[in-house]
Amino acid sequence: MATTLAEFKTAEKSWWCPGCGDFGVLAAMQRALVEMDLNPEMVTIVAGIGCSGRIGNYINSYNFHTVHGRTLPTAMGVKLANRDLTVLAAGGDGDGLAIGMSHFMHMMRRNIDITYVLMDNHIYGLTKGQVSPASDPGFVTKSTPAGNIEHPVRPLELALAAGAGFVAQGFSSNLQQLAELIKQAVQHRGFSFVNAISPCVTFNKVNTYDFYKEGLTNVDEDPNYDATDRSRAFAKVVETESMITGLIYREERPSYEDLAAGFMKAAPVANQDLNLSPEKFEKLLAQFR
Ligand code: SF4
Repeated sequence: MATTLAEFKTAEKSWWCPGCGDFGVLAAMQRALVEMDLNPEMVTIVAGIGCSGRIGNYINSYNFHTVHGRTLPTAMGVKLANRDLTVLAAGGDGDGLAIGMSHFMHMMRRNIDITYVLMDNHIYGLTKGQVSPASDPGFVTKSTPAGNIEHPVRPLELALAAGAGFVAQGFSSNLQQLAELIKQAVQHRGFSFVNAISPCVTFNKVNTYDFYKEGLTNVDEDPNYDATDRSRAFAKVVETESMITGLIYREERPSYEDLAAGFMKAAPVANQDLNLSPEKFEKLLAQFR
């Protein structure tokens, strides 16, 4: 029997502010899991610190609420320990692009089969409105009263440059497209990255729903857009200053797990009898005496 939306919901009451974009990301994630007909017991959500880090509490699956910036190495450990699980990591731009940045870069080059949904609101919401690495120049916050003087990290540009095999961007208010992108990301073999624009209605009065509704264009509706061409994808992202949604880039290549399986077969250790008796142990030790 097919799974239902109710099976992916928990009884926990959300403490997100009314209207927060994270509600849309949550609904899209749940919808994607249902449409893929996944068993909740075979799904693990690894969530970071910040408002968005609560997302795992609202999805009925295994949930690992990890420490700040460590969603990706934790998700990697879960996936490599049990490769049958569907593993999604989720967290905010502060979590993923500041303290978690080096993990983000290395996960893209490693290409482990997990999906990372970055809930991007360009601000630190949980700590009540400080500038984040994704904030635009000039952005006035509690920590930048005269305006942000730093250049932002642009996650789509970064993902394309770092070698991610699946890069997409959705908007929390376009539930259907975001759910579809998350679904494709989970089905993609290897690391997949979905930047989910998720407005913070309480502390970010610049990057609002209207700001995105007026500015975003959808590459999924452009018949001339080629999502298999990395350099064109990069040009598009730069040209539009990342104000696009849709599947931006996809490349099929072996995942870390695929390559590791081949390596293990070829490695001498794979041909050894690993059932250790006292005699075998002594023989092994003798080699080092
Ligand atoms: Fe959402 Fe912002 Fe409220 Fe946090 S502070 S729950 S990000 S609206």
